[in-house]
Amino acid sequence: MPSEFYVVATPIGNLADITLRAIEILKTVDCIACEDTRVTKILAQKYGITAKLFDCHKFNEKERSEKILSLLTQGKKIALVSDAGTPLISDPGSVLIETLIKNNIKIIAIPGVCAVTAFLSQIPRKSEDFAFIGFIPRNNKQQIEILNKFKHTNCIFYESPNRLISTLENLSLNYGNDLKIAVARELTKVFEEVKINSVQNIIEYYQKNPLKGEIAVMVFEHNTIQDDNEIIEKIKLLKEENYSAKDISIIISKLYGINKNKVYKLALN
Ligand code: SAM
Repeated sequence: MPSEFYVVATPIGNLADITLRAIEILKTVDCIACEDTRVTKILAQKYGITAKLFDCHKFNEKERSEKILSLLTQGKKIALVSDAGTPLISDPGSVLIETLIKNNIKIIAIPGVCAVTAFLSQIPRKSEDFAFIGFIPRNNKQQIEILNKFKHTNCIFYESPNRLISTLENLSLNYGNDLKIAVARELTKVFEEVKINSVQNIIEYYQKNPLKGEIAVMVFEHNTIQDDNEIIEKIKLLKEENYSAKDISIIISKLYGINKNKVYKLALN
């Protein structure tokens, strides 16, 4: 009988942020597939984990998937960890898990820390929904293309400290200085810092203060319409320009992410 395979979340900075279940599982497995064995060794030493560590990262994941599958079919217990946080969240593991699922291996997630949820849990938001896009592309045009897709919701991305200012300048250029954002730096660590402000104020802040460590950014929902009265106002403006109800419904639904039929019905009245 093949064993179960565990996907285990590990800390994102503070080594105490690991669940009891994660420690128990990592102590009972035979091997741990790690992004970087040197990083996982520090965690293993702290918690008396003696399992064999081997690397499984984005450059050897395919080949390692075969090795892991073979070990599982021999009855070995194996866990996957990444350097920090939850595997498969902007980290390797997808190729491996896909192979294991195809081979009917039961996957068990041992949940824990993730920078996205640690960040979200301290940011007040008007609406519950959010989008997470992983690392934002480096190219300015691609950044705006992807952010435009999610401008009706709170949108979180990962960014390196070296590129943060230029990315924020690109946001400010495209969405205005007043765009509301939040930046989390070094979550769970000694120099943890979370700033919620306009993009312009945050750029100014980081031009004066040290910008090192790990960064996550949230762009608050913008370009949204709060209620039907605002939709009706926009419909009136477009009617004055002689747009048909059908065209109005297409334009407004595309611009503000509102249901097209709802706009159409309002436009008919
Ligand atoms: N798997 C991880 C998770 O669960 O969040 C993410 C791994 S991804 C390779 C690393 C990126 O996550 C960093 O470059 C940074 O953008 C974000 N990140 C990780 N730790 C963080 C922290 N302590 N504070 C803020 N952002 C963090």
